[in-house]
This record gives sequence, structure tokens and C-alpha cells, in this order.
Amino acid sequence: MGLLVVGSLGLDTVATPFDRVEEALGGSATYISLSASYFSGPIHLIGVVGEDFPKEYIQLLENHNVDLNGLQIVPGGKTFRWSGVYHYDLNTRDTLLTELNVFEKFDPVIPDYLKKTRYVCLGNIDPTLQLKVLDQLTNPMFVVVDTMNYWIEGKKDEVLKIIKRANVLIINDSEARLLANEPNLIKAAKKILAYGLQTLIIKKGEHGALLFSGDTVFSAPAYPLEMMFDPTGAGDTFAGGFCGYIYKTQDTSFENIKRAVIYGSTMASFCVEQFSTKGLEDLSYLRIKDRFRDFLRLSQFDEQ
Ligand code: AMP
Repeated sequence: MGLLVVGSLGLDTVATPFDRVEEALGGSATYISLSASYFSGPIHLIGVVGEDFPKEYIQLLENHNVDLNGLQIVPGGKTFRWSGVYHYDLNTRDTLLTELNVFEKFDPVIPDYLKKTRYVCLGNIDPTLQLKVLDQLTNPMFVVVDTMNYWIEGKKDEVLKIIKRANVLIINDSEARLLANEPNLIKAAKKILAYGLQTLIIKKGEHGALLFSGDTVFSAPAYPLEMMFDPTGAGDTFAGGFCGYIYKTQDTSFENIKRAVIYGSTMASFCVEQFSTKGLEDLSYLRIKDRFRDFLRLSQFDEQ
């Protein structure tokens, strides 16, 4: 059946202390799909772009076996645009611009042949649209949701509705604090799980990720990278690796979810090494597996 991916496709203008790119390929669905494509196919992408979306980007996604039948191209429409600037340590960024454009009137339509899809990754877009997608699926079994400050601040009720229908929520530490209205991350996680969620993943940028399920906590390390150029899309790439691995193995046990968190972190480490989607364009499963093993070595230790 494949993995259904919903989210934004956009043109990003990004400045870091190292460089600046204009109108580069971006968007949550783009990063998720490219990242998941290295695990198993097919990836079915649901999204919208304007006529100005460059053909080479469509080609890039198709080359990664991403099914674009569910991608709407609005005649005369303008593609979503986002712009951000990163600070010296690359851990914090300021959003300079969010132009929804074709997303403002986007009505996601799931083609009939995808309505029975069981594995779903709802990338960061308006939670109202995420809900509309779920409403069209007959029996989704594993739903992963990503969101961001922009929606938690602007549409909290909708965010809470989508959380109740999700199996896994992936957010970063500042989003968790905002969502729970609680500065302590562990207390915030407990509060968010109590909203009606099985599993919560909190990403902490260069400090790794925390996985919460019931009373169990798992801490994943971050890959010690010397070359980190552009953190844009790292969170979406994490979600893509996570979902791609779960879909490939068809195993949603807690032990396998832990492995999926490490695969998500592995993919995110490749993403940040280059600008825009460049770090995800020419990978191989072998390189991914090698880095996954590095993660194992990073946190292995004996009692004595
Ligand atoms: P991340 O760095 O994981 O937060 O993801 C950055 C990507 O999210 C960029 O490529 C943006 O195009 C996209 N993005 C930023 N803001 C939004 C938004 N409000 N809705 C949907 N996508 C967004």
C-alpha cells in the first residue's frame, strides 16, 4: 500500500552563519518523502504547489520513487514560501517570512487507491488540513503527526484534535513546552501524553531526542557532527526516516520504535550536513546503515 505523506512543498530562503540560499527546495512533505524513500516504497505524497514550482524539483522527487498523483498543481498559483535566519550556534532561528499562497485554499483530496493506506505521516501543515486527510482514510493504523509553534500558537484546538487521533507525535523541545504550557520537559511530556497519545518524541536539536510511551522513556543521542551547515528540514527528515523504517519493518512494537528513532536521527544528521535537500539527494542504504551503527557505538557501555 505504501506510506502516505502529507505536508508542505515550498521554496525556502535560508541564511546561516556560513551561507545563504534563495528559493531552494523545501517543505515538510519534501524532506519527509526524500528521507523515507531510502527505506521502502512507495511513498505517496499529498500536497499542493503553484505553477512556479520548478520542474527539476518534481523530477528529483520522482527519481526517488515518490508517487506524485496526489500533488495538486494550481494553474497560475504561487508556491508556499518560507524564509528563516539561523543564529551563530545554529540551534535557534528566526522565521522571517511564511507565505502560505496556494496552501490557503488547499483542499487535500486522497485518490481512491490510497484511501485504505494504513501508514500515514502527517507533516507540518495546517492541522485542519491534517484532520481533513485523516477523515478520508478508511482505517489508518499508524499515524505520525508533526506540527510547529506556528500552529500551536494559532490553532491549538485543532492541534489537540489531531493529537487525539495520532499514534505518535513528533515535536521539538520548545514546541513541547509551548503545547503543554510547562517549562520542564518531562512534566510537559506527561501532560501531552495525557491529551490522549500513545507515543511522544521530543527532538532536542544537537542534543538528541527523547521518546516517551506510557511510563517508559528512551534517550537517543545526537550524532557528533563537525560539519553542520543548515538545520532546515532536520525535523521533517527525522520524521521521514522514522516512518520509512516503521513502514519497511511493519513492526510498531516499542523496541522497534526505538530503532526507528535512531534511523530518524541518522537521516537528520545527513540532512544538516548540506544546504536545503542536498544531503538527502544521493544517499545509499549502506551509508545509512553504517551511520546507524555509529549511533549504536556512541551510547554502548558496560556495567563494569
Ligand atoms: P524544520 O526545519 O524541520 O522545522 O522544517 C523546515 C521546513 O518546513 C521548511 O522547508 C519550510 O518550507 C517548512 N515550513 C516552515 N513553516 C511552515 C508552515 N507554517 N507550514 C508548513 N511548512 C512550513
